[in-house]
Amino acid sequence: MNNQPRPSFKSPRFAQPATFMRLPHTDDLAGVDVAIVGVPYDGGTSYRPGARLGPREVRHQSSLIRTYNSFQKVAPFDRLNVADAGDVDPPPVSIEKAYDAIDARIGQIADAGARPIVVGGDHSITLPVLRALARRHGQLGLVQFDAHIDTWDEYFGGKYFHGTMFRRAIEEGLVDGRRFVQVGIRGPMYGEDDFDFHREHGITVVDIDQVKDRGVAWTIDEIRRIVTGPAYMTFDIDGVDPAFAPGTGTPEVGGLTSHEAIRLVRGLRGLSLVGGDIVEVAPLFDGPGQITAVLAANVMFEFLCALVR
Ligand code: MN
Ligand code: MN
Repeated sequence: MNNQPRPSFKSPRFAQPATFMRLPHTDDLAGVDVAIVGVPYDGGTSYRPGARLGPREVRHQSSLIRTYNSFQKVAPFDRLNVADAGDVDPPPVSIEKAYDAIDARIGQIADAGARPIVVGGDHSITLPVLRALARRHGQLGLVQFDAHIDTWDEYFGGKYFHGTMFRRAIEEGLVDGRRFVQVGIRGPMYGEDDFDFHREHGITVVDIDQVKDRGVAWTIDEIRRIVTGPAYMTFDIDGVDPAFAPGTGTPEVGGLTSHEAIRLVRGLRGLSLVGGDIVEVAPLFDGPGQITAVLAANVMFEFLCALVR
């Protein structure tokens, strides 16, 4: 039988060490279809740090989630063998060393035939995840939920931080720009030339006004039209409005509601998804009730359900 979350009628939801949805924790990936893995690293942040504490808090808040998704009509744990594979141990003193540790662990997961669902960590961690997955699956499509484009070139002369990784991913050939869509983009920019890189590489932006004016269903159609072939989902929690997700380092007003976020992720069902992540949850800035971490845990559950084919 597949791994199952601890039964909440026999073990109270608030008992035992927190794993994702109270699944077994294991380092052994044999027979695992989907591996939950935390990346507690935030050395790539540019403003408020703290996303290193995201994995623990998201696991904690995932304890409440029940196991059947009545909207996707799926019981994911009956269909997939899911395990919580614990955390990467990224050295906090060097982003290159952290990248190597992340790449190695995601590579192990991919080589074992499992699909990773990663919980960060700041958004810079997505680059080594993409390196490991592109090595196995080839060039990837990408759907990015975010307020920010994250395709800037450098920061203080550094090529790696949480605003540059998708430029690096294109440069390194990990992601196909024509199969790459960014959803929820908004907020002040540096200039119109911020989008030159998009034009050069065929990257599509669905900004927040388009999502709000044309609706969730249209946005899902756009994503499905663009993100063909093996693909990855990256979900920066700041794509959601800070009214719903205040616990993050670089908040931007006027974003997705939590309901829109859940429905958009639900709309990924049936894509050839090789993995995904949820990043930038910074619990020390979270609101009452840990609402940001609760949302992140539910985004992970919807994504897990979308992986069932
Ligand atoms: Mn962002
Ligand atoms: Mn981002």
